[in-house]
Amino acid sequence: MHEAGTIGPSGPHAPSCTGRNLVVISGPSGAGKTTVARALADRLDLLVSTSATTRPPRRGEADGVDYYFLSPQEFQQRLAENRFVEWAEVFGHRYGTPIEELERARKSGRMLLLEIDVQGGIQIKKKFPEALAILLLPPDDRTLRERLSRRGTESPQDVEARFAKAQEEVRMAREAGCYDAEVVNDQLAKTINEVVSIILTRRKQA
Ligand code: ADP
Ligand code: 5GP
Repeated sequence: MHEAGTIGPSGPHAPSCTGRNLVVISGPSGAGKTTVARALADRLDLLVSTSATTRPPRRGEADGVDYYFLSPQEFQQRLAENRFVEWAEVFGHRYGTPIEELERARKSGRMLLLEIDVQGGIQIKKKFPEALAILLLPPDDRTLRERLSRRGTESPQDVEARFAKAQEEVRMAREAGCYDAEVVNDQLAKTINEVVSIILTRRKQA
């Protein structure tokens, strides 16, 4: 993690959103964010935001489905046009939430789930304090390393880099003090039930 956007969107691309319909899930790489987000999309009537990234697609990933895959120049251009609600550089690549995703959720009247890193989560909470931010944690270091390796999507060096950043990411989230809940992802079914319950409680309050 190196740098992150700090300037909020304004002008013609500014979102009209209070944050009450936003759910952020952050946590170390390999904590299970994508797995949980997919399960939530099945269980709850919410939209999962599609981020833009300069990271190259992994095998099986599709443009416009898993991410909008952009060149560094395209990303920079959109950044200059204030077209990201938040953005950050993570593991040497840029990632950002397009403003259009907020608009898509607003029009559909559904909640929008953002699966983003802690730098992005902090930016969202600053702009939208009413957003619900959940920090997903692995049960322990050994399990995290195993899950990262078993996923098979990164080289052994990249697995190590992600593992090494895990503690920093959790520390940053706790220091920022803006995550509303922490959930330990041990048994997947239990984790999903817990996250569903947190979201439903928020929905009732909204
Ligand atoms: P993230 O999106 O946070 O990087 P993933 O959702 O890709 O993490 O999960 C990392 C790996 O761990 C995947 O192979 C996934 O299938 C597996 N996984 C996720 N949650 C669990 C769980 N509760 N128990 C066992 N394996 C899990
Ligand atoms: P991956 O390359 O494994 O898909 O994602 C790497 C990290 O980038 C994960 O922590 C993921 O949550 C984060 N990420 C994905 N999309 C975004 C985004 O739009 N903004 C931010 N800040 N982080 C993102």
